[in-house]
Amino acid sequence: KVRVRFAPSPTGGLHLGGVRTVLFNYLFAKQHGGDFVLRIEDTDQTRYVEGAEKYINDCLAWCGLIPDESPAKGGQYAPYRQTERKPIYREYAERLVAQGHAYYAFDTPEELDAKRKEIPNFQYGHAHRSTLRNSLSLPLSEVETLLHNGTPHVIRIKMPENETVSFTDMIRGHVSFDTAQVDDKVLLKADGMPTYHLAVVVDDYLMKITHAFRGEEWLPSAPVHLLLWEYLGWKADMPQWAHLPLILKPDGHGKLSKRDGARLGFPVFAMNWYDAKNDELTPGFRELGFLPGAFVNLLAMLGWNDGTDQEIFTLDELVEKFSIDRVSKAGAKFDFEKAKWYNAEWIKRSPAESLKVKVAEVLTANGITINKEAYLLKIIDMVKDRCIMVADFYQQAGYFFRAPLEYDVNSVKPKWTDVKTDFFIELKEVFSNTDTFEPAELEAKFKALAEAKGLKIGDVMLPFRIMLVGGKFGPHVFDIAALLGEAETLKRIDLALA
Ligand code: GLU
Repeated sequence: KVRVRFAPSPTGGLHLGGVRTVLFNYLFAKQHGGDFVLRIEDTDQTRYVEGAEKYINDCLAWCGLIPDESPAKGGQYAPYRQTERKPIYREYAERLVAQGHAYYAFDTPEELDAKRKEIPNFQYGHAHRSTLRNSLSLPLSEVETLLHNGTPHVIRIKMPENETVSFTDMIRGHVSFDTAQVDDKVLLKADGMPTYHLAVVVDDYLMKITHAFRGEEWLPSAPVHLLLWEYLGWKADMPQWAHLPLILKPDGHGKLSKRDGARLGFPVFAMNWYDAKNDELTPGFRELGFLPGAFVNLLAMLGWNDGTDQEIFTLDELVEKFSIDRVSKAGAKFDFEKAKWYNAEWIKRSPAESLKVKVAEVLTANGITINKEAYLLKIIDMVKDRCIMVADFYQQAGYFFRAPLEYDVNSVKPKWTDVKTDFFIELKEVFSNTDTFEPAELEAKFKALAEAKGLKIGDVMLPFRIMLVGGKFGPHVFDIAALLGEAETLKRIDLALA
């Protein structure tokens, strides 16, 4: 059975790339009728940030990418938080030591600092192992004494000096590494906590993970993981890996980072992230007014397409059509204008019913009271194709609930009502005597009156719009008048003429 995992470290908000990793894992699992596991990799306590795990849960819930197993939900392989699994890992580290694939290292942080100062680009590895204090360089009796006395120590992997390790990446194909380039990574820390490298391998094994899609930044760690799978005797069970391409800055130069968002004026996080320690808020797509469907859709298209021109996909369609073979090796440039396009498309295609709660929130936040839901639904349908963000509904729909607070009179020249006052006074008369107050009738009567008065239709149409709406925007003006209704339309003409 296919089993995938998303294994974030709870260090802060989720970047676009992180959510795309979740998405690709999720799509692959669901497509194969498999399980999607959320595992919290919190063994690096120095990087742990309060609130980050909750953020991750909320974010997956917002996107609709719900794990089958997780710390919150539990599951057959619980616990799913690595700190709670601490007792599991030592046995495996010790097994590696016993087999000669790992060793104890007793160097103090001060000793290591001194080495780093002495040797440029110092790496703890075969070149310097013998000059450091570890179970490979010290006599056995001394090692035994040190251990016996409880001297603080870590366990490091013994990277082979000259081997090539390789694997087949589902996106990149054959990838190989020269082990001489890789240092002897710590596997178990002095406090008995595993590092990421040991924990990720042990847990992927114990949780029976079959496929692991993760960011390209993890590729350099792959040789360490490969060797651990091999040394622990689990090679046949190693998941198939796919390292996902980076998400690049809009100009294609380098990875899109958290800082770029502030500089370029768009969010790079899924949802707002508040960093309490630095009292710093990083904005997110959710709060900016992106619909979760649109957000998921645009992430899917960063590095993937289905081979056709189709760009709009629901989550269900993605589950059906996604294929890892079609994920590109090259980084995907992030284009915020395109992201907004996705959102606009999603708003346009969403039934009013599914938008009403969000739109009502936006309107109420701006002091508007909504009395009738049916009225709100009609308005949403009338203006939704003019909104890019959910927040745009205030500008595009607010005037249906209250008369304009000011008029964009500069749009009309010379002075906007002067010559036409007569026309509008008579229009009120005409509009009080309609049969239906439907758009077609209003339009016909409006045109007939303009003609009778020898006015060009264009000269009165725009002022009429501004009377109702406040500015030069919005749907067909007679649709607006019809929806506002007779009393409100006449009232707005009066207000504008006053
Ligand atoms: N804990 C790693 C992270 O924070 C997971 C990398 C992996 O998926 O192996 O991204």
